[in-house]
Amino acid sequence: MFVMALLVRDVVVCGPKRGFGPAPPCICGSGLESDRCCERLVRDLGARRKATPGAIVRSRYRAYAKGAHAYLMDTTHELNSQYSEDRTTWRASLAQQPYGEYRFLGATILDETVDGDSAKVRFVAKLKLKTSGRRADFQELSYFKRTDDGWKYLGGDVTTAPVVDLKTGENADDLLGDLTSRS
Ligand SMILES: [Zn+2]
Repeated sequence: MFVMALLVRDVVVCGPKRGFGPAPPCICGSGLESDRCCERLVRDLGARRKATPGAIVRSRYRAYAKGAHAYLMDTTHELNSQYSEDRTTWRASLAQQPYGEYRFLGATILDETVDGDSAKVRFVAKLKLKTSGRRADFQELSYFKRTDDGWKYLGGDVTTAPVVDLKTGENADDLLGDLTSRS
């Protein structure tokens, strides 16, 4: 009974504040309300099946920000080198990645090309290290394949160097290595 009460309280405390004004803007930086943007793709497989590869990039960026590991696995193609049938181990390895150390400032889609069942999306992921405030943006060319459950991430290449911090002049290559080893 105590556990039940606790659960109910958690739902009340942590649940979305519906009915109290507009939902917060989506973390992907689209400017849309979260529940009309990437959150919808997480909730609704039908919407995900219709989503563009660029929308999947945005929603995966949000999933990294939120630690939504199930969604990351669900949108990863089985030919991706990180893909595993063993979701428990896969989830554990995702949880070890240092995304919690960053503030997610939004993703910008630069271009998106669809050729039959293949797609490429070039984007900039804007990130800032929480401790130092140093920017750790990177640009990636992502590859996608169309499946029955929508576009899935095959892998990606970083195509330009990340931003150089204006205060320290340091390049963020060390951070970049951590963030792009997932391809
Ligand atoms: Zn979004």
